[in-house]
Amino acid sequence: MSFTSLGLNSALLHAVAEQGYAAPTAIQRAAIPAILQGRDVHAAAHTGSGKTAAFALPILQYLSVATPSARSPLALVLVPTRELAAQVGDVFRVFARSMAHPIKIVIASGGVSINPQMLAMRGSIHIVIATPGRLLDLVDHNALQLSAIKTLVLDEADRMLDLGFADELNRILGLLPEKRQSLLFSATFPDAIKSLTAQLLHDPIVIRPEQHSESRPAITQRAIHIDKDKRTPLLRHLLQSEGWPRTLVFVATKYATEHVADKLRRNHINAAALHGELSQGARTQALSAFKAGELQVLVATDLAGRGIDIEHLPAVVNYDLPRSTDDYVHRIGRTARAGASGIVVNFISADCEPHFRLIEKRQQLRITREQLAGFEPNSVVPMPIDRHGGIKGKRKSKKDKLREALAVADQSVPLPDRPSAAPASSFIWPTKPTRNDDTSK
Ligand code: AMP
Repeated sequence: MSFTSLGLNSALLHAVAEQGYAAPTAIQRAAIPAILQGRDVHAAAHTGSGKTAAFALPILQYLSVATPSARSPLALVLVPTRELAAQVGDVFRVFARSMAHPIKIVIASGGVSINPQMLAMRGSIHIVIATPGRLLDLVDHNALQLSAIKTLVLDEADRMLDLGFADELNRILGLLPEKRQSLLFSATFPDAIKSLTAQLLHDPIVIRPEQHSESRPAITQRAIHIDKDKRTPLLRHLLQSEGWPRTLVFVATKYATEHVADKLRRNHINAAALHGELSQGARTQALSAFKAGELQVLVATDLAGRGIDIEHLPAVVNYDLPRSTDDYVHRIGRTARAGASGIVVNFISADCEPHFRLIEKRQQLRITREQLAGFEPNSVVPMPIDRHGGIKGKRKSKKDKLREALAVADQSVPLPDRPSAAPASSFIWPTKPTRNDDTSK
């Protein structure tokens, strides 16, 4: 199928071709015609699926013949983070450039002064892309009103709720006209999203990734047993031996981002830290340098890493495991975007093995554990004794103990010293909604 059969006008088809998009992705094939028909959409869409263009193109198409009044945008895109707001704004702007009539797009996100955003709202605006808190600040300053909104998009709705924006969302929904089109995009479907969906959407077209097997990203996942204090040397070893041009490393804390990035820099690896307490300017600078290929490694926390769209990111390293299964989905979604392949490497220290097994179980995954020559762990890592998942809370039977002994014996078999020769597992995109677990509790 090509873009021409989706009902888009010639200006947008031209814009799409300029971007080098040869064919629509699965989510675009399903969502674009539905949005053009004015239907509500409920899409299970991970980052990298092409979801932004899936809503940006049809919204731009109907805005090309609409005239907004002053301070009253016609389309509102709500996103969880500033970085995502900027990215979504870029996508809209790139496509809008080829349209005959100018389309005014304003980004309203926190971390920067509100004044330029208030000024930008003067006159007629077509689209506002906003984080919920800043949007409400602008409404409270009478800088804009939401009563003319025709289309609402909730992008990464699950992250929005995770970040505690439920109250803000409710307030914003109360300010919107009853009659409107609502589009909800979410990578995961915790219970909170289900109730939001019921409240928000009317007779939606439901788009699920499992209906589109080709949309599943080709992600190879590895799990390496390693002692906690050997993780940085292992990371350096992988960066050298695997030759990844760009690597996103996830750690648990702000301190760890600085610490790991510093250690890498001391070993002549061009690395920077990205965390929520950096100034907006520093965050933008680190991201642009990484995107431009000036930085080899970006060491980030989950908050900063969310929604980052980096083309050609071949590798993600979970230096620290994520706390929740949903965060795991979001992290690995940074790689293998738009049909490219990618690799995710998990560092598993002895105390993290049970937690990782739980992530595997929830994700319907089984990843072969590896040990790399020269990095064998000293701490004993409890081996999985059950092919189907964890053993949490279960007393070991005689059979279990026997299996465990066999598994430990298995480990004494020498492992290949070329890491990439070790067996890895392919990602299976979850076919069931995942629960929003905080397994660290
Ligand atoms: P998204 O899921 O919206 O974050 O998009 C992920 C990446 O896919 C972006 O870098 C887009 O430029 C790219 N992309 C979106 N649609 C297509 C397409 N039809 N063909 C190729 N790349 C695409």
